[in-house]
Amino acid sequence: MSDLKETVEKAIKCPQCKKTVAVNDNPYMPFCSERCKMVDLEAWLSGRYKISEEKNNDIIFN
Ligand SMILES: [Zn+2]
Repeated sequence: MSDLKETVEKAIKCPQCKKTVAVNDNPYMPFCSERCKMVDLEAWLSGRYKISEEKNNDIIFN
């Protein structure tokens, strides 16, 4: 009974697919899987590269 409660308390929502996953035994926190972790990382990296690209264009334009 208490084990079940603990599992619920340690559950998180994956920011990528909104799936509820248990924190226990999850090396990809706060994501549910490696796939969701990579999707988020790629989105973050591409957004970052876009910004730095725009900055570079600005410098060249000036
Ligand atoms: Zn996920």
